[in-house]
Amino acid sequence: MIHNNSIYSYLLLILCSILNIYPSVCYNETSTPINKDSTVRKWNIILWDFLVSMLLGIIISTLVNHYQFKLIKSTIQCSTEVILNTYSKYNEKKNVRKIMKDLTNFIPLKSFKTYHIDSDTSMETIDILIDQAKQTQRFSFITYDDKVSEKKFFIIELIQPSTSIIVIIDRFQEANVLCNKTDNLLLVIFNESNCVQTWRDIFHGLFGFQIYDIFLYERIDRKTLVNMQDHFKEWYNKNFSHNENCGQLLNFIDIDGPLCSCSHRPCKFPEDKWSLSMAIMYAFHENFELSHDHIQQCLAITKLSHVIENEWTREQIQCFNEHRK
Ligand SMILES: [Zn+2]
Repeated sequence: MIHNNSIYSYLLLILCSILNIYPSVCYNETSTPINKDSTVRKWNIILWDFLVSMLLGIIISTLVNHYQFKLIKSTIQCSTEVILNTYSKYNEKKNVRKIMKDLTNFIPLKSFKTYHIDSDTSMETIDILIDQAKQTQRFSFITYDDKVSEKKFFIIELIQPSTSIIVIIDRFQEANVLCNKTDNLLLVIFNESNCVQTWRDIFHGLFGFQIYDIFLYERIDRKTLVNMQDHFKEWYNKNFSHNENCGQLLNFIDIDGPLCSCSHRPCKFPEDKWSLSMAIMYAFHENFELSHDHIQQCLAITKLSHVIENEWTREQIQCFNEHRK
C-alpha cells in the first residue's frame, strides 16, 4: 500500500514536468536568436516548476505513508488486543472449570418435604397443602416448559421456619375437580400479600399453564412475583465492591462495567444477568453448574433470597461459608 502510493506520487511529479516541458520545447523550435533571453527564462521556470513538483510529490508521498503507517499500526494493535482478550477469556473459563471441580456441591439452607400433585393425588393432600400455604408468606417458584417433550410443571417451595415444603405440580391435561382444587391452592399462594420469588421475569411464561384459571384470567398481581435475579445483582454489587486498583472503580462508577478487572465480579456490563449457578458459586462457593435437579433450583432461589432479605454483609456470608467447611 505504501509502495503503491509512492509510485502514484512520483507519477504525478513526472506528469507535471512533462506538461511544463512540452509547450516550452515546442515554442523553442520556432524561436529566433533574438529571443534567447526569454528562452533562458523559460528554462528557469521549467526547472523551478520541476523542483516545486518534486517537493510537492515528496510531501504528498510522506503524508500518505505517514497516515497509512498509523492505520496499519492501529489495525495491528486492535488485532493483538482481540487475540489477548480471547486468550485471557479462554484461560478464565479454564480456571473457573478447574476451580469448580474443587467446590463442594450445593447444600440447601434447610431440610424439606416433597409433595407431588398429579392425577393420582388425593383431595386431602391438597387440603393439607392449602392449610400450609395459608400460613406461609414467602415462596420460591420455578416453571418447567419443554417445547419438545411438551412436559410442563412447576415447583413451589413453601418457605417455612424449620422444614420447607416443596410442591411439584404437573400441568393437568384437562380441567377436572382435582385441577380446580389445585387452582384453589395456587390462589392462596399467589395472594397479593405474599411474595413469590423467581429467578428472572417469568410472568409471560405462565401463559403455558392456562389450564389453571389463575393464569388464564391473569388473576396474579405482578408485584407478587419478585425477580430475585435483579435483587441479587444489587445486593452482590453493594457488598462485593470493586478492588482498589480496578479500572471500573477508578472511573468512579461502582457498577458492572467493561473496565472491571476484578475476578470476583463476573458481570462486565451493567445489563449482564447472573445465572442461578453463578450466583450460588460466587456467593456460597458451591458447584451448581451441572445441577439439572429442578427442586434444587427452587431451593437455590430460597438460599440466595435468605441472604438478600436479611441483608447479609460480605463478612457474614464469608463467615457462613467458613463454618460450613
Ligand atoms: Zn472491578
